[in-house]
Amino acid sequence: MYKVAYVMGTSHCGSTMLAFLLNSHPEIVSVGEASPSLKRNHDRHLLPCSCGSPLGECSFWTEVYRRVSEQGVEFTPLNWAMIYCSNKLIRDVLYVNRANPVVESIRRILLPFHTPHIRKKNYANLVSIKTILEMTNSTVFADASKSPNRFELLNTIPELDVRLIWLIRDPRAFVNSMRRRGLSLEDAAIRWKKTQIVMQRAYNKISDKKKMILKYEELCTAPQDKMNSVFRFLEVPEIELPENYKSTPHHIIGHKTRLDEQTKIYLNEKWKKNLTEEEKNKTMEIVGRLATDLGYDA
Ligand SMILES: [Zn+2]
Repeated sequence: MYKVAYVMGTSHCGSTMLAFLLNSHPEIVSVGEASPSLKRNHDRHLLPCSCGSPLGECSFWTEVYRRVSEQGVEFTPLNWAMIYCSNKLIRDVLYVNRANPVVESIRRILLPFHTPHIRKKNYANLVSIKTILEMTNSTVFADASKSPNRFELLNTIPELDVRLIWLIRDPRAFVNSMRRRGLSLEDAAIRWKKTQIVMQRAYNKISDKKKMILKYEELCTAPQDKMNSVFRFLEVPEIELPENYKSTPHHIIGHKTRLDEQTKIYLNEKWKKNLTEEEKNKTMEIVGRLATDLGYDA
C-alpha cells in the first residue's frame, strides 16, 4: 500500500502553506497540487515550480516525466498524467461534485460511462505516485489538489491508502479573497457554501481513522501542535518544524504564494479589516448554519 495525504479545501484555504509544512517532514513528499489547474493546460511547461524553474525545466519534475513515461504512462508538462480529465466540458459535467443532490445523482449515473478512462487515469496516478515516493525515498505522498472529486477517485484505487485532511478556513476570508478576484460578495458566499456541502458529503462517507479536520486559523496559531496531530494521523514520527518552512528542497505546484518571500507561518486575517460589519454579517447570513457547525460564529 502507498500512503497518500490528501488535502481537501476551497481555494485560498491555506493549502499551499500546508503543502510546504507537510514537505518539511523527511518521510513525506509533498508536490502541492498534483493535479494542477486546467487553466494552464496549453502552457503548463511555463508554470513556475516552487524551486524557481518552470515545470518544463525543473530537474525534479523532468525526472518524474522520464521515469513515469518509461513505465508506459505518458507524462509531460502538457500531458499531465495525474489529471483525470483535461477536457473542460467533460470535466465540468462528470468530474465536479455538485451540491444539488439531484444534479449530483445524475452525475453519478453518467460517471460509469467514463469507467475505461477512469481506470486508465487511476493507473497513471498510481504509477506517478509510486515513482515520486521511490524517487524521494518517502513513505507518504501529499497531494494538495483540494478537489473532493479527485479525493473520491484516488480513494477507489486499491493500492492506495488515502488519508483525508479537510482544511477549513473562515468563510469571510474566502469571500474577501474572491472579491479581490472580481466575484460579488453574494456569489462568493454561495460558492463557499456549495463547496462545503460537497466536501462535507465526501468527508462523512469515510471512516474516522482515515480523516481529520484541520482549521487554517488553528494551524497558524499553533503550528507545531497541529502539525504533530497531522503527523500522528499519517503515522509518521512527530518532528520539530523548521523555523523557515521553505527550507526543505521543494517542488510544489499551486498558488503563487509558494514563490513569495513568506517563510514563516502567520495568520492572515485581512478580511477583518477589508470587510465592513455589514458585509461580514451578510456573508454569515448566506453561508448559514454550515459555518456555525464548523465553528465559525458571526
Ligand atoms: Zn521544481
